[in-house]
Amino acid sequence: MDIRRRPPLRSHYNQKHKADETVDQRSPKASDALPLPLYLTNGIFFTLFFSVSYFLLQRWRDKIRSSIPLHVVTLSELAAIVSLIASFIYLLGFFGIDFVQSIISRNSAWDLENDDEQRFLVNEDRNIHSPAKPRLMDLPAIPSVSQDDEELVKSVVSGEVPSYSLESKLGDCFRAAKIRRDAVQRLVGRSLEGLPLEGFDYDSILGQCCEMPVGYVQIPVGIAGPLLLNGCEYSVPMATTEGCLVASTNRGCKAIFASGGATCVLLRDAMTRAPVVRFTSAKRATELKFFLEDPLNFDTLSVVFSKSSRFARLQGIKCAIAGKNLYIRFSCSTGDAMGMNMVSKGVQNVLDFLQNDFPDMDVIGISGNFCSDKKPAAVNWIEGRGKSVVCEAIITRHVVTKVLKTTVPALVELNMLKNLTGSAVAGALGGFNAHAANIVSAIYIATGQDPAQNIESSHCITMMEAINNGNDLHISVTMPSIEVGTVGGGTQLASQSACLNLLGVKGANKESPGSNSQLLATVVAGSVLAGELSLMSAIAGGQLVKSHMKYNRSSRDVTKIGS
Ligand code: ADP
Repeated sequence: MDIRRRPPLRSHYNQKHKADETVDQRSPKASDALPLPLYLTNGIFFTLFFSVSYFLLQRWRDKIRSSIPLHVVTLSELAAIVSLIASFIYLLGFFGIDFVQSIISRNSAWDLENDDEQRFLVNEDRNIHSPAKPRLMDLPAIPSVSQDDEELVKSVVSGEVPSYSLESKLGDCFRAAKIRRDAVQRLVGRSLEGLPLEGFDYDSILGQCCEMPVGYVQIPVGIAGPLLLNGCEYSVPMATTEGCLVASTNRGCKAIFASGGATCVLLRDAMTRAPVVRFTSAKRATELKFFLEDPLNFDTLSVVFSKSSRFARLQGIKCAIAGKNLYIRFSCSTGDAMGMNMVSKGVQNVLDFLQNDFPDMDVIGISGNFCSDKKPAAVNWIEGRGKSVVCEAIITRHVVTKVLKTTVPALVELNMLKNLTGSAVAGALGGFNAHAANIVSAIYIATGQDPAQNIESSHCITMMEAINNGNDLHISVTMPSIEVGTVGGGTQLASQSACLNLLGVKGANKESPGSNSQLLATVVAGSVLAGELSLMSAIAGGQLVKSHMKYNRSSRDVTKIGS
């Protein structure tokens, strides 16, 4: 049927907006109804029309010559007349209707343009205090949208169709992102050129990772390693735009490798959530505190807590009181998930259960910030959150000199004055390190962790000590709140799960749930150890500025890059 459609006579409007339109996307024509290919039916009727016309004219001339009355017709003449009429009707219908249609569509195109202007003016009146928006007619035409999509873009711009509803309305996540992107560009009057749209699975983020997508940001992924940790080698993916970072971590890995590797121990694995509840008196709040902290009640609370998950296992409850308000910090293991959803569901189970014995308990919020999520807080630094690990290595004097280009005493002195004393002077909270956040963030982005949890995950104290009569360096990083998972959230996205796969920790560990996420936490700590070693050496050896000028400053003239 499609090949029957003829190129429409385009109005100015149509030419502007339908240049790239595919044949499928045009509005149907009357000629679409014909059952044979266009060139065949046209050929048949043209031939029929002209051949019967010729035949009848010949017969007409013969009759005049032989004085036969014209109204006396033979059977063949009758058939020729019928064929002539039929082919005439076909040709008239085919070309005539299309001609009429082209006039009608030109009028409706003008109506459409006028409608948009009207609608926009009405919106301007309604939103009299809203910031001035560019007029629709002034905005750049988007060449690649179909007629249907063009209408939708206009509806989103006018507010008729909410942007957030596009996915459910269309059932096509890519198309929804494309329409939203076009609408945003028109509304803002600025281009998103450079932000890629294609090459991403928008279905994979629906209802889980990102709402109202218009594209995706590309971040380069570099590899540091091999990191020799607990006898295994890891190639560590780092997503970053900071020059030097991967190279520096790589140098640290090399120093660790040459010294026989690092050792990492998991101290604790417990995600936390702390609701805030209020009573009418401080005394009542303390009664609940004693009830929750009584070891005799733990088993019951644990069963109630775990009923919503196969993996959530309650490990402890710690309460803090502020007047008549009680903050209850639940901690639990969460298998291979980072665990925020899991722990929140468990907490809700317990709150529902407690309501029977404490009906006067007023639940103010499922999170009362004593958790504490994505904010610097001493509670995480002291008590831990997620995975608590310690990682150490002994770097030989030879490696310190040859690979790190510094000396053991210089590193020990710098660590004491910078990471310990300097951070104390600054009043640091968990920031007794050189740049743990750099490595944590880069691995988090590459492996689909929540980058906002970099705040507490980067809590780290770096210790350095000269051992073996001052010949070798003992270095350690202690990180009490590494919040990572290998299932859930962004970990299931294609790029991120590829990075997890590289580390051998993709998805859930079936034999030993929790092992993958715990191993990932040790890799994070091992990489931080490498990063600390290298940066501290660069500072101690006076190489920092020199190497940043080499790796972090391109020779491109930034003033020539357009804004
Ligand atoms: P989070 O709690 O980190 O936000 P989600 O609750 O979104 O994570 O994802 C965890 C989901 O994965 C849960 O539905 C859980 O049942 C499932 N799951 C499957 N295998 C595991 C595993 N080994 N460890 C943890 N969760 C797992």
